Amino acid sequence: MTTVYNFNAGPSSIPAPVLRKAKEEMFNFEQSSMAVMEMSHRSPLYEKIHFGAMNKLRDIYEIPEEYEILFLQGGASLQFSMVPLNFLDKNQTASYVLTGSWSEKALKEASALGNVHTLSSSKDSQYRCIPPTDYSDLPENTAYVHLTSNNTIFGTQWPTFPKKKNVPVIVDMSSDVLSRNIPWEDLDMVYAGAQKNAGMSGVTLVIIRKTLLEKANTQLPPSLSYKQHAKSDSLYNTPPTAAVYITGLVAEWIAECGGVTEMARRAEEKAAMIYNAIDKSNGFFTGHADASSRSLMNITFRLENEELEKLFLNEAKEAGFVGLNGHRSVGGCRVSNYNAVPLKHVEILRDFMVTFMEKHI
Ligand SMILES: *Cc1c(COP(=O)(O)O)cnc(C)c1O
Repeated sequence: MTTVYNFNAGPSSIPAPVLRKAKEEMFNFEQSSMAVMEMSHRSPLYEKIHFGAMNKLRDIYEIPEEYEILFLQGGASLQFSMVPLNFLDKNQTASYVLTGSWSEKALKEASALGNVHTLSSSKDSQYRCIPPTDYSDLPENTAYVHLTSNNTIFGTQWPTFPKKKNVPVIVDMSSDVLSRNIPWEDLDMVYAGAQKNAGMSGVTLVIIRKTLLEKANTQLPPSLSYKQHAKSDSLYNTPPTAAVYITGLVAEWIAECGGVTEMARRAEEKAAMIYNAIDKSNGFFTGHADASSRSLMNITFRLENEELEKLFLNEAKEAGFVGLNGHRSVGGCRVSNYNAVPLKHVEILRDFMVTFMEKHI
C-alpha cells in the first residue's frame, strides 16, 4: 500500500491507531466471535460500546452532567430541521448568524418551518470573516440563536463565542468538534456529523443542555423528537452501531494523546505551518479568510489563476496528496487539518507548497 497524505474535508482522515484497532477487533469483538455490526443493539456487548463511547466523550470534552449526549442519524443536515422542529414555536423567531454555505442551509431549513431572522452575516464579504455578533439586539421572542463554529467551505472559525445572554445558543460544530475545549456556559446545544473530526459517517453527535431539552416540542413524531431519543438513551431505534463504535475509539485515542487540549495545541501548530507558507509567499498563495477569522481546521487559499491552481492540484495529486481541491461551490484549494491529520503530513505538504512556488514563481 502506498502512503497518501489525506487532507479530505469529510469524510476524512481517521487516526491510524483507530483504524488498526478496528481492524483487530471489529470482526471478533471481545471474543464474541461476532463483528460489531452483527451484534444486537439490545445486547450487553453493544451497550458497553454505546455507553462507553458516551462516557469517554463526556470525559475528554468535559461535558457537564447537565448536558445529555445523543447519537442520532441523518447527518448534521437533519439537525438543520430537527432544531427548529423541536425548539421553534409559531409565535417565536429563530436567529441565525450567516458565516457560510452550511449556515445558509441551516437557515433555509428553519425558514420552511417557522419565523427566522438573520442576526449577522459576512455574505457581502464572500464569507471571509466571522461578523461582529452580540446577543443584545435579538428580536423579542427569540427561540434560539444558531451559529456555525467552523466554516468548512470558506475556512473561517469563531475564535471565541459571544457571551450567552438569556436566549439558548445552538452551534453546528461538524468540522471542529473535539478540536478545542468548549465554554459550555455559553452554549446550550452542540451538534456535529462524526465524519470530520469524530469518526465515520453515520452518527451525529448532539450534546444538549437538559433545561433546553425540557422545552422541546412534545407533539413531534418520536423519531424527530430529542426528548424521545434522550428518554431511550439513543436506542429508540437501531443506532448506527459501527459508527458509534468508531467514535468511541476516536475518543479513546484523543484521551491517550493527551485530550482535547492537546488536539487544540496540535491544530494550532499544524495550521501555522500552512498559514506561514501562505503569508511568506508574497502573494503566490493568497488565503481566503481574514487573518482574525482563520480556521485551524480548513485552510482555504488560491493561486494567481486557475491554470496555476490546476497545475498545483495535479502535481499534488501525483505526489500523493488527497483532497486539496476547494469545495465545488467555491474552487481554489483547501487543506483540511482535522485532529487525525499527522504533523508529518502537514510538514510534507508545506514543503511541497514551497517547492512548487519556487518552480513556478
Ligand atoms: C459537513 C458539514 C455539514 C453537513 O454534514 P452532513 O453530515 O453531511 O449532513 C453541516 N455543517 C457543517 C459545518 C459541515 O462541515
